[in-house]
Amino acid sequence: METTLIILKPDAVQRGLCGRIITRFEEKGLQIVGMKLMQISQDLAATHYKDHASKPFYPGLVRFMTSSPVVVMAVRGIGAITICRNMMGATFGSKANPGTIRGDFGVSNSFNLIHGSDGPEAAARELGIFFKAGEVIEFPRASEAWIYDASGGKPE
Ligand code: UDP
Ligand code: MG
Repeated sequence: METTLIILKPDAVQRGLCGRIITRFEEKGLQIVGMKLMQISQDLAATHYKDHASKPFYPGLVRFMTSSPVVVMAVRGIGAITICRNMMGATFGSKANPGTIRGDFGVSNSFNLIHGSDGPEAAARELGIFFKAGEVIEFPRASEAWIYDASGGKPE
């Protein structure tokens, strides 16, 4: 089981798309184990995007991410990191394939609706900076037995 950090960016919140995006993760069978509306501070944006600090788009990215509230989610499932990245689509809304979140809901390359951790290390680090102890709740799901096939001993 993996847990990944998803951020519904300010454009998703302002455009009223959060419900439709969250529904996609629920429908896929992923489990939401943490979720809150929050305003990202300058410091938090800088910590989160530290690897991009030298990039030309960095100042605009920090301005965008701190401009209006976001919804942050902890999303859990087998292979959740890669599944979520695939559901998000390519970084640029202009290039993202139809059927993906960025491909279906946006055209902008910077206002691209959603962030998802890009690997296990990033997921652990990012969940740790956005959620306090106790805010991610790994609760048993009644539907689990119909979401994963556990007949072979381990869920798949
Ligand atoms: N971004 C941008 N211009 C670029 C590349 C990235 O504005 O040329 C923004 C965009 O919002 C993107 C974020 O910076 O989601 C982080 O970039 P990254 O390359 O990590 O893309 P992601 O992992 O979000 O697909
Ligand atoms: Mg990235």
